[in-house]
Amino acid sequence: MNLELCVLASGSGGNAALVRCGDAALLIDAGIGPVTADRRMIGTGLDVTTIRAICLTHLDGDHIHPAWFRVMLRHQIRLFVPANYIQLLRRLARLEDVLKPVMALTVTFTQDVFYPLPAVSCTALRLPHDKKGSFGLLLQSDNTRIGYATDFGRATPELVELFAGADILAVESNYDPEMQLRSNRPPRLKKRIMNGAGHLSNAQALELIGRILDRTVEKYGPDHQPHHLVLLHRSQKCNCQIKLHAAFAADERIAPKLTLAHQHQRTEWLGAPDRKALPGEQLCMFNSLSLQ
Ligand SMILES: [Zn+2]
Repeated sequence: MNLELCVLASGSGGNAALVRCGDAALLIDAGIGPVTADRRMIGTGLDVTTIRAICLTHLDGDHIHPAWFRVMLRHQIRLFVPANYIQLLRRLARLEDVLKPVMALTVTFTQDVFYPLPAVSCTALRLPHDKKGSFGLLLQSDNTRIGYATDFGRATPELVELFAGADILAVESNYDPEMQLRSNRPPRLKKRIMNGAGHLSNAQALELIGRILDRTVEKYGPDHQPHHLVLLHRSQKCNCQIKLHAAFAADERIAPKLTLAHQHQRTEWLGAPDRKALPGEQLCMFNSLSLQ
């Protein structure tokens, strides 16, 4: 089964991305409300009732909107949450008076593999972001790999390794350092963003994608390259499309494959054609797992 990605919203005003697998869908982050998400899904062929699971990268306010709790209960949507955020989730659910039923639908993960949909595995990797970190996710079906990482201050070798071989790669490219330094933000906030455990700059995102492409060639040969490169979580105040395009035009492997995710507008469905198995990989790996 092929996976496709559609970023519904990306940025500090709210984050959510749909991953489609056949008739079912999962949501990566739920930082825009369900009504906005449902409206944004017009034209995708899906609506909120087709969402079977929500996977959270972390629980900052722009990644979880409490209005989703009641939608989860109504449609029995499972929620996958980093284990170190469970207390915060409990607090949010208690405030909405839905603690018990929400916990019954919640599954925690650490740096491990879990199955948000029957035919989709998700490998989680902790990334440096504030005190508790955020999690990069590699979603994998028998035919497609999607690497998705947002809200992290620096690339790690483990992330490069995990995302090498992805068909669709979505990473944050948050700010332009000059615009950041010139902005009227308080010095403490600038420091928090730029200190290696905040967000990724355009140059850092470019370097990370370059490293992933190099590692992909090393591991799998020149035929395996991503079909789409998506840039997430662009700062409205300290970044702009012109700066991004200028930065990424420098690498001819990257520029033609770029999609910019937006705060107020969804992307198209981004997919990848059927591919051959990567060396050492069994494409039928889910046959035995599909009933889980
Ligand atoms: Zn964020």
